[in-house]
Amino acid sequence: MLIVMKFGGTSVGSAPALQHVVKVVKKARDQGDEVVVVVSAMSGVTDLLLNGALKAETGDLATAKQARQEISDRHTQVIQTLLAGGQWQDWVSDEIDALLSEFDALCHSICVLGELTPRALDVIGGMGERMSVRQVAAILERDGVPAQAIDATQLIITDDRYGAASPLMPLTAERSQTLLCPLIAEGITPVVTGFIGATEAGIPTTMGRGGSDYSATILGRALGADEVWIWTDVNGVMTADPRVVPDACSVPHLSYAEVGEMAYFGAKVLHPQSIRPARRSVIPVRILNTFQPDHPGTLITKDPDGSGETVKAITAIKGLSLITIEGSGMIGVPGVAARTFGAVARTGTSVLMISQSSSEQSICFVVPTDEATKVLAALAEEMARELERRDIERIWSQDKIVIIAVVGAGMKGIPGIASRVFGALGTRKINVVAIAQGSSEYNISLVVAQGDGDEAVRCIHEEFELGASGANC
Ligand code: ADP
Ligand code: ASP
Ligand code: MG
Repeated sequence: MLIVMKFGGTSVGSAPALQHVVKVVKKARDQGDEVVVVVSAMSGVTDLLLNGALKAETGDLATAKQARQEISDRHTQVIQTLLAGGQWQDWVSDEIDALLSEFDALCHSICVLGELTPRALDVIGGMGERMSVRQVAAILERDGVPAQAIDATQLIITDDRYGAASPLMPLTAERSQTLLCPLIAEGITPVVTGFIGATEAGIPTTMGRGGSDYSATILGRALGADEVWIWTDVNGVMTADPRVVPDACSVPHLSYAEVGEMAYFGAKVLHPQSIRPARRSVIPVRILNTFQPDHPGTLITKDPDGSGETVKAITAIKGLSLITIEGSGMIGVPGVAARTFGAVARTGTSVLMISQSSSEQSICFVVPTDEATKVLAALAEEMARELERRDIERIWSQDKIVIIAVVGAGMKGIPGIASRVFGALGTRKINVVAIAQGSSEYNISLVVAQGDGDEAVRCIHEEFELGASGANC
């Protein structure tokens, strides 16, 4: 079996964690599986790099200097613990030093110019993965697993949307097969950087925060892998964010559609786009815990499991704003919605949820708060005439809101789920600001104020008995 295994930041974040990684890879190889490893940067490193660059733009170079030291210390600690005395120690140290010198030089230029472009930010943001692959490949080699570090800039070819790039699959498949298949055939485990790719012209890109999951499924599709295993620090996809709901349970099985909704609506355990390549190639994905490798975690496949469970998980996305366009002059006027969303699209903002009241007196939709100001400006310009005539009375934004998504394929066609969701919120006196249900019926989404977000997740979770003490765990 060919398995693409991705290890997240915590899994490669310390010497003890990396020893678990080696065990997992060895076990698969000993069982006769072929493995392609994808790794994230050590936990916290991407934040340090990006923050250093952002501060350099404001003229502060001290932050980048401190980041360099901290990143160097983190790697040195691992190298001294796991690679001391061996032939790999100097090589890895030199490679990491070279990358950190490049980081330093880039931050200097950014500081002098006073400008940080999205393109430069992607070069810097991806450096943690480039350090990590070298370290992980050396540790595997040292422990007797033939391995080779590879920068995905050679494999994953993307468009040039810096910070949120998408793969060009035919080119990516061609490059990945040409470069990786001969290594695999020789028994060498490729260790590939997550998160990053490059344009056709070779300019480095990144695929959005948490993008290493996406790298793994892209490579899975490109290589026709049998399975993709995402190794992280929890026992699979949980019924809710375990930091918010301490008694959340792991969900044994999810369909692509269910996990896609969860990832899109804030379950940080998977990058929102990551399920698409697996879904298109119908590759099973497992979410597993590096620190409890015998736990079965979550298996994700094409079909829902038919367990009869209605609600499987509750997710939340924070940091959002609800934009409302309101006015009696909108009733029965064709094209208002099209113009509204046309104007939003021109700002490059993605809309997370839409709801329109049947009286057509208002349209409201949710966008990230960071984008709200430019969306309001675009709408004011687009609707200038209607605002002047008072056909549209007000365009406004309510900030600090959260979307809660209640997800499960078993909800389809079952009456009474929504009433239980809203009943549970009502008894806790949590005000629901807006509601939307996808036509798939896999998901009921609602908006509450940020201050109510965690409590709303907990009370819906309890209502459907999803926790450790509930019937469904
Ligand atoms: P990695 O570095 O391995 O990619 P992430 O930190 O990106 O790990 O994602 C795993 C984390 O996602 C977990 O530690 C957990 O706190 C958080 N999380 C949020 N929602 C969920 C959920 N529904 N199921 C599992 N984990 C979740
Ligand atoms: N290191 C990147 C991040 O922190 C990508 C990843 O971890 O998946 O966002
Ligand atoms: Mg992640």
